[in-house]
Amino acid sequence: MSVSTYTLVADDVLTLDAASTRYSPGAVGFEGARISYVGPPPNVRTGTIVDLEGCVLLPGLVNVHTHTPMWLFRGLTEDVPRGEWLAGRMRPLEERVGPRELRAGALAGCLEMLLGGVTTIADRYSDMGEIAGAVEESGLRAVIAHSLYDAGAERGLRQSQALLERFGADPQRSRVWVGLGPHATDTCGRALLREVAALAERSGARVFIHLAQSQAEVAAVRARGYTGCAAYLDSLGLLGPTVVVAHGTYLTEEEADVVGRRRTAVAHCPSSNAKLEGRVAPVARMRRAGAVIGLGTDAACCNNGMDLFAEMRTAGLLNKVRADDPTAFPAADLLRMVTSDAAAALGVGDLVGSLEIGKRADVIAVDQQAPHVQPWHDPVANLVYAARGSDVRAVFVDGQPLVLDRRPVRLDAERILADGAQASRALAPVAVVR
Ligand SMILES: [Zn+2]
Repeated sequence: MSVSTYTLVADDVLTLDAASTRYSPGAVGFEGARISYVGPPPNVRTGTIVDLEGCVLLPGLVNVHTHTPMWLFRGLTEDVPRGEWLAGRMRPLEERVGPRELRAGALAGCLEMLLGGVTTIADRYSDMGEIAGAVEESGLRAVIAHSLYDAGAERGLRQSQALLERFGADPQRSRVWVGLGPHATDTCGRALLREVAALAERSGARVFIHLAQSQAEVAAVRARGYTGCAAYLDSLGLLGPTVVVAHGTYLTEEEADVVGRRRTAVAHCPSSNAKLEGRVAPVARMRRAGAVIGLGTDAACCNNGMDLFAEMRTAGLLNKVRADDPTAFPAADLLRMVTSDAAAALGVGDLVGSLEIGKRADVIAVDQQAPHVQPWHDPVANLVYAARGSDVRAVFVDGQPLVLDRRPVRLDAERILADGAQASRALAPVAVVR
């Protein structure tokens, strides 16, 4: 099979490399799945030339925390009192859908993210064995984890093992790879977490866990005699660079320091935390202490979408408010939290997250001509505070075009949305009355 070669030519290229190199105009070339050229538009152009005049090229965005099947539940859990969302509202909805519906929701969620310029996701849910096929079909790069709970722990571990055998845990070898997904610190006891740590050690898989996401979680862990959820994980050796903790909404400042000192990867989901808990996680403190921060959209029913442009903006605004300081969380840092830093958080910083020769050709083109992003004085500020996911015009993953002219290339959007609508129909009778 011949290797496909592309040269993308655009008005602007933000590489997000260590020196934040920019080319205006610029080009990105790739051979097969890898980037072979980044620089000014070359005189000799090889392969398929894609003219992206009026666009800026960026590395594909990395969403470090999401639950694709929960696309089905968007709009069904609104303005819920603190403490009721998961047990009181989500679980009854989840009981009404089966694997077929979850698959349909996952594919629709993947479609939503692809069209918004997301090329890598960390996805986790129950029944991941059923959902994985949809994520793989979407063309996204993805680390997937099956959610583990004390209830049904053995069966869950067997499912995780089966996923490991199916996809492996090495992102270098497989576009879809497996992480381990203990649900949270209150729903996972020491015995289960010890098994997770041992399996992580044996397989090389990363661990993904929700941390201090609710007051009930903190209370449950304190009732076991720990000072907090972070101390509990730390006592099990489960804070560190190969563990991705999501939210941290109710961590104390002291706990945030411990998370940071261990160089833990943190999935910061500002709009989800704001909407479901009315809180901003102490992420600035974790970052100052050494944590690697990536942004996550969380699920479509949390916030209510999976647009990383919206998430950058929200992260900037909320963290400025929390810090009482408009210089906090500068735009350049926020753009890193969906590209190079997010890739590092998932352990794929050598593969994606910047446009550099030898890295995987995960590239997006964002329209820079719409009225709401003009004038183009400051590309970084425009991307963080003015652009929207719907401004993404083209998406490539592993050198393959997945979105061109804002339309999916491989996925049948009409069919996927019809299947998603059909799958969510069973939920209508329990739609919440206000
Ligand atoms: Zn989550």
